[in-house]
Amino acid sequence: MSVVRVEVEEPPLYLRNRMDAEQAIRDLIDTELAAGRRLCIGFDFPFGYPEGFARAVTGRDDPLVLWDWLEVRFEDTSKANNRFDLAASINAMFPGTGPFWFNALRRDIPGLTRKDTRDGHGMAERRACEIQAKGAFTCWQLGGAGAVGGQILTGLPVLARLRRRYPQDIAVWPFQPLTPPVALIEIWPGLINPAVKRAEATGGIRDAHQVQLLARALSRLAPDELTRLLTVDAPEEGWIMGLGHEDVLESAIADPLKPPPLRDDCFALPAGVDWTPVDDALALLSERMHPVVGQSEHGLEQALGRVLAAPLVAQRSNPAQANSAVDGYGFAFASLGSGDQVLPLVDGRSAAGVPYPGTVPAGHAIRMLTGAAVPDGVDTVILQEDVTLGEGEIAFREGVKPGANTREAGEDVTAGTPILEPGRILTPADLALAAATGLSRVTTYARLKVAILSTGDEIREPGQDAGEGQIYDANRPMLAAMVRQFGYEAVDMGIVRDDREVLRQTLDRAAREADLILTSGGASSGDEDHVSALLTEAGAMAEWRIALKPGRPLALGVWGGTPVFGLPGNPVAALVCTLIFARPAMHLLAGAGWRGPQGFTLPAAFSKNKKPGRREYLRARIREGQVEVFASEGSGRISGLSWADGLVEIGDGEQQIAPGDPVHYIPFSSFL
Ligand code: AMP
Ligand code: MG
Repeated sequence: MSVVRVEVEEPPLYLRNRMDAEQAIRDLIDTELAAGRRLCIGFDFPFGYPEGFARAVTGRDDPLVLWDWLEVRFEDTSKANNRFDLAASINAMFPGTGPFWFNALRRDIPGLTRKDTRDGHGMAERRACEIQAKGAFTCWQLGGAGAVGGQILTGLPVLARLRRRYPQDIAVWPFQPLTPPVALIEIWPGLINPAVKRAEATGGIRDAHQVQLLARALSRLAPDELTRLLTVDAPEEGWIMGLGHEDVLESAIADPLKPPPLRDDCFALPAGVDWTPVDDALALLSERMHPVVGQSEHGLEQALGRVLAAPLVAQRSNPAQANSAVDGYGFAFASLGSGDQVLPLVDGRSAAGVPYPGTVPAGHAIRMLTGAAVPDGVDTVILQEDVTLGEGEIAFREGVKPGANTREAGEDVTAGTPILEPGRILTPADLALAAATGLSRVTTYARLKVAILSTGDEIREPGQDAGEGQIYDANRPMLAAMVRQFGYEAVDMGIVRDDREVLRQTLDRAAREADLILTSGGASSGDEDHVSALLTEAGAMAEWRIALKPGRPLALGVWGGTPVFGLPGNPVAALVCTLIFARPAMHLLAGAGWRGPQGFTLPAAFSKNKKPGRREYLRARIREGQVEVFASEGSGRISGLSWADGLVEIGDGEQQIAPGDPVHYIPFSSFL
């Protein structure tokens, strides 16, 4: 079973048997109904039989009446069910041999042939959709590789029970209008065979790929495509959802899932507020930003630094079996007497990857190596250095503890438990954990693309000549490097003159190519502040006047569906505003959730009288366990940024700081 819930793919679930599956479906329906969401559940078996069958069996053309008829007669336990006898009894209702064939049981069943020697039953061999679906099996064949006949007889009673359990909430496609919140539809993975083959080539289980890829395809269909695929005329036989539209399913699978863009008003500030405190501004961002990038599934080798989009659940315990933590000798602790011990050794040994196949008798010991599975009859291992090895026996002192030097199965991670949650930025250690617990593929968000541009007639490209009144572009290289350090892709948009039309075209291109636009300069409300002017003109601009030093107003807006962070031109302010505001926003847009930097408290090596009403960040570093700040607070001093290893954060209120007073220091490395 595979679930895509509110655009997020969950890992496929293996359900042991039909009872577990029925329970899982009920749980799913309960959860989604309680959350007020709609739900479409696909089942990989026909919902109907060829025309005329329902009438021949129930006297009615309605396939749902046939479902109920089957439910009453079908007996199912986890051990056995009566599907072959039921098929034989239906065959008896038809002339000739009856339409069902194949008997997987040892005993003969009168009226059910083992080979396809049927004749004269009068039913069509295939439904209309199966004539079109190349490679689909007929519903009459009850067994054999690939056959589906057995699944129909066992599956339809489950669906009939679900309908009875949720009479108001379930509709069955294509027999009923899909008004209720839950739709049951017939699916067939044969329609997406090429995609399944591609996925299989990279490993994994075929059935898991089938359900996962189909769930992905259906969940990504645009509303008009969905309507097109659901519009069929098959009131009795039913239909395979998507049949004849295989290309649509294929391209839905290939598309990275794109969530809706941010709303134009996502940066609006509450009216009447003059200077917004830093924490209020951050709270607004955390509320308004959501992931805007698609997801895809890939192998572990591509996963480092990517943001996990679906939880990882351990497929295997770690350790998978109890094993030895040392090189030594194993035995049953209970078989030891008191005092010094002499134990005979069994022939053979247990080594990593080469377990001992037998049972070690009580009172015996076995040679064991690190990582070797603990054989039957052993629960304790003694270190080889604590043993005297004789001819076919070992001797050791008393005092070994029961269970010593063994690792229990699952003592680290048990199969089935979640190991990593969505939003996690995957580390090298995470890849080890995933691999050790049997995972080879992960679903992650696409890397966030961040367009970066500088604005201003005075700005020159490093390497070019710079005349009087001109300055080199310091912000673009800095911002691009920061974006890459955060783990995202920097898209360079160059320097844009103070020319509204050129800027407009550049923003258009940036909005197409990136998920977020970072500009620097031109963000205030002066004559040449074209970033804020254009965003205002687009009707999606908010001037964020944040009670923060260093920082000028931030121009936040949405351009063509893409959020824009208009940073101050001053490099010191641009860096601080990027760390404090743009960075957490980037992580939210990228799916990584809210991440505050981890700072710590240290004694100050400086003094400062701070005025109330705004928060300050000073360029700082640690020397001799104390926090030093850069000699000048002048916001044009780029050398101070480079001098610093981090920032000191001084709270919004008034403060007198003297040497030795505790201050909050945040290293640059913690803003990642
Ligand atoms: P603005 O916000 O455009 O008024 O710019 C504020 C200050 O930052 C001015 O002194 C600009 O020259 C300077 N500035 C703007 N962009 C950059 C840049 N990319 N690199 C260095 N300084 C800049
Ligand atoms: Mg400017």
